[in-house]
Amino acid sequence: MNTVKILNVNIDNLSQDELLQKLGQRGGVVFTPNVDHLVNLQRDEEFYQIYQNSDYRVCDSQVLYYASRLLGQPIREKISGSDLFPAFYTHYKNCENTTIFLLGAAEGVAARAQEKINSIVGRNMVVDTYSPPYGFEKDEVECQRIVDRINQSKATVLAVGLGAPKQEKWIVKHKHKLKNIRVFLAIGASIDFEAG
Ligand code: UDP
Repeated sequence: MNTVKILNVNIDNLSQDELLQKLGQRGGVVFTPNVDHLVNLQRDEEFYQIYQNSDYRVCDSQVLYYASRLLGQPIREKISGSDLFPAFYTHYKNCENTTIFLLGAAEGVAARAQEKINSIVGRNMVVDTYSPPYGFEKDEVECQRIVDRINQSKATVLAVGLGAPKQEKWIVKHKHKLKNIRVFLAIGASIDFEAG
């Protein structure tokens, strides 16, 4: 794939439509680098290694979009998590096999997002949600409970809104245990946006 290297990150130079199609064909883990990620990637070795485990790194930043122009390798499109997520569920709304689990946001917020999305797409596309308590990522029993819940939901897409780098670390640490998930989206505050 055509990529543009900014500092130590290779950013994929593809359009949102191309990404949606590729995800439908072969799935994958999507991260959305912005300036904040880039700064953290210079000093957090674990985050850097986690980033190497993603399949797609798309440009979620106007600054990086313009930086790529200064480097003479213009990134085609800015693809923010908050645009990508609604584009994803709209694109696959008639694909009955595509079902979503929402992980993250405050208690009740993900459930509200679930209701709204399901009413927009006209089916039970978001099959379950969970808003984990503060510090949950250090509790292995709690993480295993979340893995079990996601597996029981039979969802094929996991959208994680826990903020960076927590969401990226959680996805890469647990993805091998998530049997049905084909698409992993790290979407920051998008669950809040969807809840309205
Ligand atoms: N969040 C969460 N659990 C945490 C930390 C954050 O559910 O332990 C949620 C928070 O409620 C919000 C999202 O993660 O919905 C983070 O939003 P932010 O704007 O920080 O995302 P980013 O800027 O990293 O995309």
